[in-house]
Amino acid sequence: MLVKTKEVAPSVYGITIPTPFLVGPVNVYIIEGERLTLVDTGVKTEEAKRVLEAELLELDYRFSDIELVILTHHHPDHIGLVEEFDHATIASHEKTKPWLEGDQRFFEQKNDFFRELYTAHGVDENIVALIEKSNAYYLKYTSRIGIDVTLSEGDRIEGLPGWSVIETPGHAQSQISLYRERDGVLISGDHLIAHISSNAIIEAPYKGETERPKTLLQYRDSLKKCLHVKRAFSGHGKPVEDPKALIEERLQKQIEKAKAIKNLLGEETLTSFELCKRLYPQMYTKQPGLTLSETLGHLDLLEEMNEVKAVNENSVYRYCKVD
Ligand SMILES: [Zn+2]
Repeated sequence: MLVKTKEVAPSVYGITIPTPFLVGPVNVYIIEGERLTLVDTGVKTEEAKRVLEAELLELDYRFSDIELVILTHHHPDHIGLVEEFDHATIASHEKTKPWLEGDQRFFEQKNDFFRELYTAHGVDENIVALIEKSNAYYLKYTSRIGIDVTLSEGDRIEGLPGWSVIETPGHAQSQISLYRERDGVLISGDHLIAHISSNAIIEAPYKGETERPKTLLQYRDSLKKCLHVKRAFSGHGKPVEDPKALIEERLQKQIEKAKAIKNLLGEETLTSFELCKRLYPQMYTKQPGLTLSETLGHLDLLEEMNEVKAVNENSVYRYCKVD
Protein backbone atom coordinates (compact mmCIF):
# COMPACT_ATOMS: atom_id res chain seq x y z
CA MET A 1 0.00 0.00 0.00
CA LEU A 2 1.11 3.50 -0.81
CA VAL A 3 2.27 5.38 2.29
CA LYS A 4 1.07 8.94 1.99
CA THR A 5 3.68 10.88 3.95
CA LYS A 6 2.36 14.23 2.80
CA GLU A 7 -0.80 13.86 4.87
CA VAL A 8 -1.01 16.94 7.11
CA ALA A 9 -4.53 16.33 8.47
CA PRO A 10 -6.97 13.49 7.75
CA SER A 11 -7.52 13.36 3.96
CA VAL A 12 -5.50 16.55 3.44
CA TYR A 13 -2.08 16.43 1.78
CA GLY A 14 0.43 19.25 1.47
CA ILE A 15 2.63 19.82 -1.57
CA THR A 16 5.33 22.50 -1.76
CA ILE A 17 6.13 24.05 -5.13
CA PRO A 18 8.95 26.47 -6.03
CA THR A 19 8.18 29.99 -7.27
CA PRO A 20 10.54 32.56 -8.82
CA PHE A 21 9.26 35.16 -6.32
CA LEU A 22 10.82 36.62 -3.16
CA VAL A 23 8.16 34.93 -1.00
CA GLY A 24 9.74 31.53 -1.77
CA PRO A 25 7.89 28.27 -2.37
CA VAL A 26 4.10 28.00 -2.21
CA ASN A 27 2.03 25.24 -0.58
CA VAL A 28 -0.91 23.67 -2.38
CA TYR A 29 -3.19 21.02 -0.90
CA ILE A 30 -4.96 17.89 -2.06
CA ILE A 31 -8.19 17.01 -0.30
CA GLU A 32 -9.59 13.54 -0.81
CA GLY A 33 -13.28 14.41 -0.67
CA GLU A 34 -16.12 13.01 -2.73
CA ARG A 35 -14.33 14.82 -5.49
CA LEU A 36 -10.55 14.85 -5.62
CA THR A 37 -9.72 18.47 -4.90
CA LEU A 38 -6.65 20.60 -5.42
CA VAL A 39 -6.49 23.83 -3.42
CA ASP A 40 -4.27 26.31 -5.33
CA THR A 41 -1.98 25.28 -8.13
CA GLY A 42 1.40 26.99 -7.86
CA VAL A 43 2.93 29.39 -10.32
CA LYS A 44 3.03 29.02 -14.10
CA THR A 45 6.60 27.88 -14.74
CA GLU A 46 7.94 24.66 -16.21
CA GLU A 47 9.71 23.92 -12.94
CA ALA A 48 6.54 24.35 -10.85
CA LYS A 49 4.60 22.13 -13.24
CA ARG A 50 7.24 19.40 -13.06
CA VAL A 51 7.30 19.50 -9.26
CA LEU A 52 3.50 19.43 -8.99
CA GLU A 53 3.32 16.49 -11.38
CA ALA A 54 5.99 14.53 -9.51
CA GLU A 55 4.51 15.28 -6.08
CA LEU A 56 1.02 14.27 -7.24
CA LEU A 57 2.44 11.04 -8.61
CA GLU A 58 3.82 10.25 -5.18
CA LEU A 59 0.20 10.35 -4.02
CA ASP A 60 -0.64 8.18 -7.01
CA TYR A 61 -2.52 10.94 -8.85
CA ARG A 62 -2.20 12.59 -12.23
CA PHE A 63 -3.43 16.03 -13.32
CA SER A 64 -6.34 14.32 -15.07
CA ASP A 65 -7.51 12.80 -11.75
CA ILE A 66 -8.19 16.23 -10.20
CA GLU A 67 -11.93 16.92 -10.32
CA LEU A 68 -12.19 20.20 -8.45
CA VAL A 69 -9.73 23.08 -8.16
CA ILE A 70 -10.35 25.71 -5.49
CA LEU A 71 -8.32 28.90 -5.66
CA THR A 72 -7.78 30.74 -2.37
CA HIS A 73 -7.01 34.09 -4.05
CA HIS A 74 -5.91 35.60 -7.32
CA HIS A 75 -2.14 35.94 -6.80
CA PRO A 76 -0.04 34.21 -9.50
CA ASP A 77 1.84 31.94 -7.08
CA HIS A 78 -1.55 30.41 -6.18
CA ILE A 79 -3.37 30.28 -9.50
CA GLY A 80 -0.62 30.19 -12.12
CA LEU A 81 -1.02 26.59 -13.26
CA VAL A 82 -4.81 26.44 -13.19
CA GLU A 83 -5.13 26.14 -16.97
CA GLU A 84 -3.55 22.68 -16.68
CA PHE A 85 -6.82 21.66 -15.00
CA ASP A 86 -9.34 22.86 -17.57
CA HIS A 87 -11.02 19.42 -17.34
CA ALA A 88 -11.87 20.08 -13.67
CA THR A 89 -14.44 22.34 -12.01
CA ILE A 90 -12.73 25.62 -11.12
CA ALA A 91 -14.08 27.32 -8.00
CA SER A 92 -13.06 30.63 -6.48
CA HIS A 93 -14.31 33.92 -5.13
CA GLU A 94 -16.08 36.21 -7.60
CA LYS A 95 -13.18 38.68 -7.36
CA THR A 96 -10.70 36.17 -8.77
CA LYS A 97 -12.67 36.24 -12.00
CA PRO A 98 -11.39 39.40 -13.71
CA TRP A 99 -7.80 38.37 -13.01
CA LEU A 100 -8.24 34.89 -14.44
CA GLU A 101 -10.34 35.97 -17.38
CA GLY A 102 -7.96 38.80 -18.28
CA ASP A 103 -10.80 41.34 -18.20
CA GLN A 104 -9.32 44.28 -20.16
CA ARG A 105 -11.77 46.85 -18.82
CA PHE A 106 -10.98 45.78 -15.26
CA PHE A 107 -7.23 46.15 -15.85
CA GLU A 108 -7.64 49.58 -17.48
CA GLN A 109 -9.81 50.85 -14.63
CA LYS A 110 -7.37 49.42 -12.12
CA ASN A 111 -4.44 51.20 -13.78
CA ASP A 112 -6.35 54.51 -13.87
CA PHE A 113 -7.29 54.09 -10.22
CA PHE A 114 -3.70 53.50 -9.14
CA ARG A 115 -2.37 56.44 -11.18
CA GLU A 116 -4.81 58.69 -9.32
CA LEU A 117 -4.10 57.08 -5.96
CA TYR A 118 -0.34 57.49 -6.33
CA THR A 119 -0.67 61.12 -7.39
CA ALA A 120 -2.98 61.77 -4.43
CA HIS A 121 -0.40 60.26 -2.05
CA GLY A 122 2.60 62.08 -3.48
CA VAL A 123 4.36 59.07 -5.04
CA ASP A 124 7.25 59.94 -7.41
CA GLU A 125 6.76 59.15 -11.10
CA ASN A 126 9.80 56.84 -11.20
CA ILE A 127 8.37 54.79 -8.33
CA VAL A 128 4.99 54.53 -10.09
CA ALA A 129 6.84 53.22 -13.16
CA LEU A 130 8.65 50.64 -10.97
CA ILE A 131 5.35 49.43 -9.50
CA GLU A 132 3.75 49.09 -12.93
CA LYS A 133 6.76 47.15 -14.18
CA SER A 134 6.63 44.80 -11.22
CA ASN A 135 2.85 44.22 -11.65
CA ALA A 136 3.39 43.31 -15.29
CA TYR A 137 6.17 40.91 -14.28
CA TYR A 138 3.90 39.02 -11.86
CA LEU A 139 1.10 38.73 -14.40
CA LYS A 140 3.37 36.73 -16.70
CA TYR A 141 3.14 33.83 -14.26
CA THR A 142 -0.57 33.30 -14.42
CA SER A 143 -3.22 31.45 -16.43
CA ARG A 144 -6.24 32.54 -18.43
CA ILE A 145 -9.32 30.47 -17.70
CA GLY A 146 -12.97 30.90 -16.70
CA ILE A 147 -14.39 30.11 -13.27
CA ASP A 148 -17.20 27.53 -13.03
CA VAL A 149 -18.30 28.05 -9.43
CA THR A 150 -18.08 31.25 -7.40
CA LEU A 151 -17.66 30.84 -3.67
CA SER A 152 -18.67 33.21 -0.91
CA GLU A 153 -19.11 33.37 2.86
CA GLY A 154 -20.63 30.27 4.42
CA ASP A 155 -20.88 28.32 1.18
CA ARG A 156 -20.73 24.54 1.37
CA ILE A 157 -18.76 23.06 -1.48
CA GLU A 158 -20.24 20.38 -3.68
CA GLY A 159 -17.99 17.35 -3.60
CA LEU A 160 -16.32 18.41 -0.38
CA PRO A 161 -18.72 17.61 2.47
CA GLY A 162 -17.81 19.02 5.86
CA TRP A 163 -15.94 22.01 4.44
CA SER A 164 -17.22 25.56 4.15
CA VAL A 165 -15.96 28.90 2.93
CA ILE A 166 -14.87 31.78 5.16
CA GLU A 167 -14.32 35.04 3.29
CA THR A 168 -11.07 36.49 4.61
CA PRO A 169 -10.34 39.62 2.54
CA GLY A 170 -7.36 41.79 3.43
CA HIS A 171 -4.26 40.25 1.90
CA ALA A 172 -6.28 39.98 -1.32
CA GLN A 173 -9.83 41.07 -2.03
CA SER A 174 -10.49 37.60 -3.47
CA GLN A 175 -9.06 35.77 -0.45
CA ILE A 176 -11.12 32.89 0.92
CA SER A 177 -10.22 30.22 3.46
CA LEU A 178 -11.61 26.69 3.66
CA TYR A 179 -12.76 25.48 7.05
CA ARG A 180 -13.52 21.94 8.22
CA GLU A 181 -15.79 22.08 11.24
CA ARG A 182 -15.12 18.48 12.36
CA ASP A 183 -11.53 19.18 13.42
CA GLY A 184 -11.20 22.96 13.14
CA VAL A 185 -8.74 22.74 10.25
CA LEU A 186 -8.38 25.79 8.01
CA ILE A 187 -6.71 25.99 4.63
CA SER A 188 -5.89 29.65 4.79
CA GLY A 189 -4.10 30.62 1.60
CA ASP A 190 -2.10 33.73 2.49
CA HIS A 191 -4.53 34.88 5.16
CA LEU A 192 -2.47 33.27 7.94
CA ILE A 193 1.25 32.68 7.53
CA ALA A 194 3.37 31.57 10.47
CA HIS A 195 6.75 33.10 9.62
CA ILE A 196 5.80 36.40 7.95
CA SER A 197 2.99 38.88 8.40
CA SER A 198 0.72 38.92 5.37
CA ASN A 199 0.74 42.22 3.55
CA ALA A 200 -2.72 43.79 3.29
CA ILE A 201 -2.16 44.84 -0.30
CA ILE A 202 -3.97 47.95 -1.53
CA GLU A 203 -6.32 47.14 -4.39
CA ALA A 204 -8.56 49.10 -6.70
CA PRO A 205 -12.35 49.00 -6.30
CA TYR A 206 -14.05 46.06 -8.02
CA LYS A 207 -17.22 46.08 -10.07
CA GLY A 208 -19.99 47.87 -8.19
CA GLU A 209 -17.56 49.54 -5.75
CA THR A 210 -16.53 53.18 -5.84
CA GLU A 211 -13.77 53.45 -3.24
CA ARG A 212 -10.63 51.51 -2.44
CA PRO A 213 -11.14 49.02 0.36
CA LYS A 214 -9.16 49.85 3.51
CA THR A 215 -7.31 46.60 3.33
CA LEU A 216 -5.53 46.56 6.69
CA LEU A 217 -8.81 47.24 8.51
CA GLN A 218 -10.46 44.47 6.49
CA TYR A 219 -7.56 42.18 7.23
CA ARG A 220 -7.93 42.77 10.97
CA ASP A 221 -11.63 41.89 10.76
CA SER A 222 -10.79 38.75 8.80
CA LEU A 223 -8.19 37.75 11.41
CA LYS A 224 -10.79 38.06 14.16
CA LYS A 225 -13.09 35.75 12.19
CA CYS A 226 -10.55 32.93 12.54
CA LEU A 227 -9.86 32.94 16.28
CA HIS A 228 -11.72 29.63 16.68
CA VAL A 229 -9.52 27.77 14.20
CA LYS A 230 -7.52 24.86 15.66
CA ARG A 231 -4.83 24.48 13.01
CA ALA A 232 -4.19 26.39 9.80
CA PHE A 233 -2.45 25.21 6.65
CA SER A 234 -0.89 28.14 4.96
CA GLY A 235 0.05 29.09 1.41
CA HIS A 236 3.63 29.58 2.56
CA GLY A 237 5.79 27.95 5.22
CA LYS A 238 4.84 25.66 8.06
CA PRO A 239 1.37 25.02 9.47
CA VAL A 240 0.09 27.48 12.05
CA GLU A 241 -0.16 25.33 15.18
CA ASP A 242 -1.77 27.94 17.41
CA PRO A 243 -3.80 30.24 15.17
CA LYS A 244 -5.35 32.17 18.07
CA ALA A 245 -1.93 33.12 19.47
CA LEU A 246 -0.66 34.10 16.02
CA ILE A 247 -3.75 36.21 15.30
CA GLU A 248 -3.52 38.03 18.63
CA GLU A 249 0.17 38.70 18.02
CA ARG A 250 -0.49 40.05 14.50
CA LEU A 251 -3.30 42.33 15.72
CA GLN A 252 -1.06 43.67 18.48
CA LYS A 253 1.94 44.20 16.19
CA GLN A 254 -0.22 46.21 13.77
CA ILE A 255 -1.22 48.57 16.57
CA GLU A 256 2.43 48.90 17.63
CA LYS A 257 3.53 49.60 14.08
CA ALA A 258 0.77 52.19 13.64
CA LYS A 259 1.94 53.94 16.83
CA ALA A 260 5.54 53.88 15.60
CA ILE A 261 4.37 55.54 12.39
CA LYS A 262 2.56 58.19 14.40
CA ASN A 263 5.79 58.87 16.32
CA LEU A 264 7.73 59.09 13.08
CA LEU A 265 5.22 61.66 11.87
CA GLY A 266 5.84 63.74 15.01
CA GLU A 267 4.64 67.31 14.55
CA GLU A 268 5.00 67.23 10.77
CA THR A 269 2.40 66.97 8.03
CA LEU A 270 3.53 64.39 5.47
CA THR A 271 2.24 62.41 2.52
CA SER A 272 2.10 58.65 2.89
CA PHE A 273 4.90 58.38 0.35
CA GLU A 274 7.16 60.65 2.43
CA LEU A 275 6.40 58.49 5.44
CA CYS A 276 7.00 55.34 3.42
CA LYS A 277 10.51 56.54 2.49
CA ARG A 278 11.31 57.21 6.14
CA LEU A 279 9.91 53.88 7.27
CA TYR A 280 11.57 51.80 4.57
CA PRO A 281 14.62 53.81 3.43
CA GLN A 282 16.25 50.76 1.79
CA MET A 283 13.21 48.79 0.79
CA TYR A 284 10.89 51.34 -0.77
CA THR A 285 12.65 51.27 -4.15
CA LYS A 286 12.95 47.47 -4.12
CA GLN A 287 9.37 46.70 -3.10
CA PRO A 288 7.50 49.96 -3.68
CA GLY A 289 4.02 48.40 -3.96
CA LEU A 290 4.30 46.44 -0.72
CA THR A 291 5.94 49.21 1.33
CA LEU A 292 3.30 51.71 0.19
CA SER A 293 0.52 49.27 1.07
CA GLU A 294 2.05 48.84 4.53
CA THR A 295 2.33 52.59 5.09
CA LEU A 296 -1.09 53.51 3.76
CA GLY A 297 -2.72 50.59 5.56
CA HIS A 298 -1.33 51.65 8.92
CA LEU A 299 -2.33 55.28 8.23
CA ASP A 300 -5.87 54.02 7.60
CA LEU A 301 -5.67 52.26 10.97
CA LEU A 302 -4.41 55.41 12.72
CA GLU A 303 -7.24 57.40 11.13
CA GLU A 304 -9.72 54.78 12.32
CA MET A 305 -8.24 55.07 15.83
CA ASN A 306 -8.57 58.84 15.53
CA GLU A 307 -4.82 59.25 16.08
CA VAL A 308 -4.03 60.94 12.77
CA LYS A 309 -6.06 62.79 10.18
CA ALA A 310 -5.64 63.27 6.47
CA VAL A 311 -5.81 66.75 5.02
CA ASN A 312 -6.47 67.16 1.34
CA GLU A 313 -4.48 70.06 -0.09
CA ASN A 314 -4.67 70.59 -3.86
CA SER A 315 -5.74 66.96 -4.35
CA VAL A 316 -2.79 65.59 -2.36
CA TYR A 317 -3.37 63.88 0.99
CA ARG A 318 -1.11 64.85 3.88
CA TYR A 319 -1.28 63.25 7.29
CA CYS A 320 -0.81 64.87 10.68
CA LYS A 321 -1.41 64.00 14.32
CA VAL A 322 -4.76 64.56 15.95
CA ASP A 323 -4.20 66.63 19.11
ZN1 LIG B 1 -0.96 36.14 -1.97
